[in-house]
Amino acid sequence: MTASTTQPTNASLYGIKCPKCGSSAWRILGRPGAGMREAGVGVGAIVLVVMIGVIIGMVRAMIHGSAMVSIGTAVLVVVLAGGAWFFWKWFKAMGISDSNLEPLEFACTECKTKFQAAPLEAPADQILSAPCTVFFRRLPALKGVNDEFALFLNGRRLAWVKNNQFFEFQTVVRYNDVFVTTKSGTAFKGHRSFEAQPGGRVELQFSGIAFV
Ligand SMILES: [Zn+2]
Repeated sequence: MTASTTQPTNASLYGIKCPKCGSSAWRILGRPGAGMREAGVGVGAIVLVVMIGVIIGMVRAMIHGSAMVSIGTAVLVVVLAGGAWFFWKWFKAMGISDSNLEPLEFACTECKTKFQAAPLEAPADQILSAPCTVFFRRLPALKGVNDEFALFLNGRRLAWVKNNQFFEFQTVVRYNDVFVTTKSGTAFKGHRSFEAQPGGRVELQFSGIAFV
């Protein structure tokens, strides 16, 4: 990624338009490739489970004789399983980087086109004279209870939020878009857009799958 040299100071998604039909009605899908990463995590998990099964089979074969052949195969399997484990961890970790203003993937709600766009620099007339405080709360929910979710403001990741946690932040941009993603960067449906007032306060609640 070379976009880091031109990162906006005050990021904004306001003004992003569908390149096909020009509509500014879109929903946020998340980080590009997030779906593929989640599939990769799934594949990694399946490979790992299969490997564990093979190891158990090898150990049983060793107990029942033909030890020398089995030991060689078992070592190979352990190496492969280790590889699968590291692949899995790597795939999960690469979901959201810390250089956190990379392009996002959008889907136009008018013409259904999927497109990528980077957050824009908010124009001077959309900067507030005083910051607005935003209180975000992730409500306790069974769904994803052990998962940390990423909280994004205008395309910038602000925090990792656990179940039943809150996070308070400020914005100096008038038109704001807040969304939440999984660890891999897939956005939960329905971002929250709001117009901030100087010195104002906005409260947002997230149920575990959507804003409420
Ligand atoms: Zn469109």
